[in-house]
Amino acid sequence: MQPRATTRQIKVGNDSTGIICIGGDAPVSVQSMTSGYTHDIDQCVKEINRLDSAGADLVRVAVPEAKDTIALKEILNQTSVPIVADVHFHFQRALEAVEAGVHKIRLNPGNIADRNQVNAVIDACKDARIPIRIGVNEGSIIERKDKQKRKEELGKFFADSKHGHLIAIMIAKLEEYLDIFHERDFHDICISAKSMDSSLTIDAYTEIAKRFEYPLHLGVTHAGPRETGSIRSVVALGTLLANGIGDTLRISYASDPVYEVEDGLELLYCLAKRTRIGAELIACPTCGRIQVDLYTLVQEVRKKLADEIDIPIKVAVMGCVVNGPGEAEGADIAVFAGDRRGIIYVQGQRVANVKEEEILDRLLEECRTFQEKVRNGEATLGEKVVEIIPPDPIGELGSGKARIAAGDVEQITIGRT
Ligand code: SF4
Repeated sequence: MQPRATTRQIKVGNDSTGIICIGGDAPVSVQSMTSGYTHDIDQCVKEINRLDSAGADLVRVAVPEAKDTIALKEILNQTSVPIVADVHFHFQRALEAVEAGVHKIRLNPGNIADRNQVNAVIDACKDARIPIRIGVNEGSIIERKDKQKRKEELGKFFADSKHGHLIAIMIAKLEEYLDIFHERDFHDICISAKSMDSSLTIDAYTEIAKRFEYPLHLGVTHAGPRETGSIRSVVALGTLLANGIGDTLRISYASDPVYEVEDGLELLYCLAKRTRIGAELIACPTCGRIQVDLYTLVQEVRKKLADEIDIPIKVAVMGCVVNGPGEAEGADIAVFAGDRRGIIYVQGQRVANVKEEEILDRLLEECRTFQEKVRNGEATLGEKVVEIIPPDPIGELGSGKARIAAGDVEQITIGRT
């Protein structure tokens, strides 16, 4: 992991939403965007509040028509997370959104380029003390005339990248646009340069990070449904974040945007860029040794943990006792399935051996009790009372079943302490 690149810091929000800092030493923030019409106030508020509850630090809404910016005022009254107005083509929408009290504006240099129009938006944002994201998108900056000639000319600037000409255009667009902002001494800026191509996204942001001091909003645009979009997004954003690049991010899916927030947060937790809130679930992939319906159990445990646990307890759900203990190393609470039963451990100490249908309730009961103990200072996360040692071996494969059923498995699994 590379140290975080130094960027300026901008602030988004106010007293009623709380202030989110982007850039500098602020934690990397997670954004998402509503998928419905902004002028449908009730539906839009509902969607914003769902994203807020899922952990979004900022929520963006599209404002293509005046009826959308008219709705903004009421939407802002009914929500408590900073709202970004996404403006394309019509600079008036930006002015109307600022007037409505929005907390940040996104402009696209590819479709609002008139200097007077940009100046009007800058002045309005300056008066309202709100920042602007300058978001160039591969899809809206490609200049289609003389494409081959430009490709050859511009590609020379970044010969190491197969997308050199696109990176050159993105940087040129940003420089050109930033000149307008600098002339008006406006620096409350965040930058993005998204593409649907993960490798272009990595190369473009890497080059942009070398050239500009503004905080960077990361994203792979039009990444598709979660099944494919997650890979595209995580490979690009994960690489950049591991290289110290990125101050805020949006993962874009063609599906429920709550997944964008959940996956964005999980990415940051995995890279230790944010402190985890809530339980961390570890689960085995299952194999031919599986001894309970693990897929169902894991999904039920995941949902319940999300609802009931708000401290970073590590919970492991393992399909068998053969490899489970080793795989659950480090978990605060673990269950190992065996012969249609579940053996439950709390920080390495066996506390129960229950039937399969009782596993979920007992595991959650232990999680709730443990959470309470941590809150009261009676237990510490990540500490183990007894080390769980994998069995060594327990006879022929499968011969441990009888011992598991008899409840004496701890004599096999806990040995060298
Ligand atoms: S814990 Fe057991 S069932 Fe799960 S993958 Fe490992 S060996 Fe297979």
